[in-house]
Amino acid sequence: MFEGELVVSGGRIVSLGASGGAEGPFDREVDCHGNLIMPGFKNAHTHSGMTFLRSMADDLPLQRWLTEQVFPKEAQLTPDDVYVLTKLAIMEYLTSGITMMFDMYFARESIAQAAIDTGFRAALVGCANDYGGSAQETADEYAKFSKLNPLISYRLGFHAEYTSSEPLMRDLSELVQQLKQPFYTHLNETRAEVEHCIAHSGMRTIEYLDSLGLFNYGGGGYHCVHVSEREMEIMQARKMSVITCPGSNTKLASGVAPVYEYLKRGIPVAIGTDGAASNNCLDFFREMFLTTGLQKLEHGAEAVDAIDVLAMACRNGAYACGFDDCDYLAVGKQADLILIDLQQPNMQPLNNIEKNIVYSGSKQNVALVMIAGKVLYEKGEFFIGEDPARIYAEANRIIRGMK
Ligand SMILES: [Zn+2]
Repeated sequence: MFEGELVVSGGRIVSLGASGGAEGPFDREVDCHGNLIMPGFKNAHTHSGMTFLRSMADDLPLQRWLTEQVFPKEAQLTPDDVYVLTKLAIMEYLTSGITMMFDMYFARESIAQAAIDTGFRAALVGCANDYGGSAQETADEYAKFSKLNPLISYRLGFHAEYTSSEPLMRDLSELVQQLKQPFYTHLNETRAEVEHCIAHSGMRTIEYLDSLGLFNYGGGGYHCVHVSEREMEIMQARKMSVITCPGSNTKLASGVAPVYEYLKRGIPVAIGTDGAASNNCLDFFREMFLTTGLQKLEHGAEAVDAIDVLAMACRNGAYACGFDDCDYLAVGKQADLILIDLQQPNMQPLNNIEKNIVYSGSKQNVALVMIAGKVLYEKGEFFIGEDPARIYAEANRIIRGMK
């Protein structure tokens, strides 16, 4: 941490140093008044389009929640609906200092377009399963989205073992071997999911998917709550990462992910909000607090400190998505940054700024969000090319029109 200036040009950081070093002229100068500039938070697992289900589908465990409430309503969504609902999620991300999403949802053209039109950074991930999608579609999407726009990346993946049959997984594994790419999926989220996998395959979920070769080039899992020692060894050997979603796991009563053990073993952990239907807010400050708080409940107050949490929040999600130049602030890195207002009661006194952010920080401290050098959010105002009131009206129209 230092006091100084940061200069952005062409979407990247071109200078970073002590005050007075940068020479203009500049298009715009921002006096940050001694507040904190830091890398943006990376939301490493979400279903942005699920904003329409916020506070519509609640208070049920995962399987009943999915089959009774989520799937029937999702079936009624159009690609245009997903476009608007993704924009609504992006607005919420911005208010929380999030500069990147790792988004698994259908209508991926719409997700990519919403991200490009607002200027937001997004990694898409395939979500093929027995109800839709195929290895061929995943291959086509990989080819298309990998070169669509610098704001967009694409990761191979599928929805989950419990929604997919073995022929589909074998086809996807062939694709993994062919492209030599990492693979991501919902993994070991609930105890019931793992028991179901044991019943039909004789193996726990990570063991089973690994036996099919899906993690031969790494990748990782969303949630990873119920994981055995053997499965952790596989994750280490395959250099997999974990994306923990403590808010969603708490609300759906799925359990507490063993984040403390992952860190002890050197397994990288990133953080995700999951979708607005299971969380229900897309607030990274809450996720960061839960990430450490739940581990402290299980392992004592020393477990998972604020520095660990900030590494998970700012860097590891970027690596999982292949946005390796969005991880920290340095010359040549992407200008994906946030301004944290320290002149507010919850940030004072300035005894330890990192701890203030993780333990007492909140969305009210996010004063500005910049992605690829463009300001998308500043002092409560959005600069995303669309009137927020229209997005709210559309989101309400979509859910009210459903059966
Ligand atoms: Zn999910």
